[in-house]
Amino acid sequence: MSSEQVIRTVPHRTNTQGGASFLGRLFHASELPRRAFRSMGTVATVTVRTDYAERLAAVTEHIRKIFDRLESKMSAYRADSEISLLSRMGGVEPISVSEDTDTVLSLARHFGGLSAGAFDSTAGPLMRLWGFNGAQVPPVRPSEQAVREVLKLVDYRRLTIQDGTAFLPVKGMEEDVGGIAKGYAVDLAYDYCLSVGIRNFLIDFSGNVRASGRPEWGTEWQIGVRNPFDRSRIIGKIALPGGTALATSGSYERYVEIAGARFSHIIDPRSGYPATGTASVTVLCKDATTADALSTAFFVVGACGAHALLEKVPSAELLIVPDTYPMELLLTQGLRETFAPAPEVRSRVLSPKS
Ligand code: AMP
Ligand code: MG
Repeated sequence: MSSEQVIRTVPHRTNTQGGASFLGRLFHASELPRRAFRSMGTVATVTVRTDYAERLAAVTEHIRKIFDRLESKMSAYRADSEISLLSRMGGVEPISVSEDTDTVLSLARHFGGLSAGAFDSTAGPLMRLWGFNGAQVPPVRPSEQAVREVLKLVDYRRLTIQDGTAFLPVKGMEEDVGGIAKGYAVDLAYDYCLSVGIRNFLIDFSGNVRASGRPEWGTEWQIGVRNPFDRSRIIGKIALPGGTALATSGSYERYVEIAGARFSHIIDPRSGYPATGTASVTVLCKDATTADALSTAFFVVGACGAHALLEKVPSAELLIVPDTYPMELLLTQGLRETFAPAPEVRSRVLSPKS
């Protein structure tokens, strides 16, 4: 899962650069109590209002354990994870899965259907073909024939989830829940914080964000969205209402170079080729799992396919940055009201013809 988010825990009126610090791939204003840790190969941060400062260390430690637990079950990089076992047992026999994995697999399949296969958590073999997930980057572009062969192993509809077991029917099929697991992790952390009485906080796991309540000042958390063409800048800020979530998928931070050309880590499972045409996608919706899956799906369908997918998820708000110069943002009407673009940034409302 990849994304570039600039989280501001400060109100609009604050100087956007003032008092801020870079932290890994995230950019936070430093006024509020915040702690960071690493999990799933990336950085997570927990920010709380000052009244919860004394509890921050304990709460963050608990969240770290939740994230690490999920990583041990769902990582495609760990041979002993349930997801790796599921892939190894493809075509052999079903494996027992924990409730977390069962839920994530079921949700992944749901988003597969919703997006007509643009989101497909069985894209693992394609990820490897293009040199991701620990595979060697090929010296030349995979041939059409190779892509066609591997595509036969990719189809979310063939994953069976039943009575606490999961099964991939063909040897060589591989599950990869990297497009949804971090969002799910954030939702668990969000529920945990509320369950222990923390009401005003923001969790950010590599660009998968969920907020509760509001910061010290202002009425909403302000989330800066990083400029996909210039990491040192933001393209604008989104006001995130308490309870809601936001996720960004970007092509610019995780990619491979094959014979001088860059290929994004988000693969179009319909064609078998890395998705093109989009630099980043940000989705705002009710929970982080949905935001995570949808940001990956919208990245695949791009501006052209966004309208059809939006019709299936009318409550989602969307910001697309096409991979074209000069940069022009496309926004849903609802987001136009809560998004404050940086002064130099051009934007327009996403239309069916975009
Ligand atoms: P994200 O950063 O949330 O967009 O997730 C990207 C990650 O999702 C990749 O690193 C892969 O692990 C996985 N992935 C890539 N392409 C797809 C796809 N079309 N559908 C679902 N997951 C994908
Ligand atoms: Mg995602």
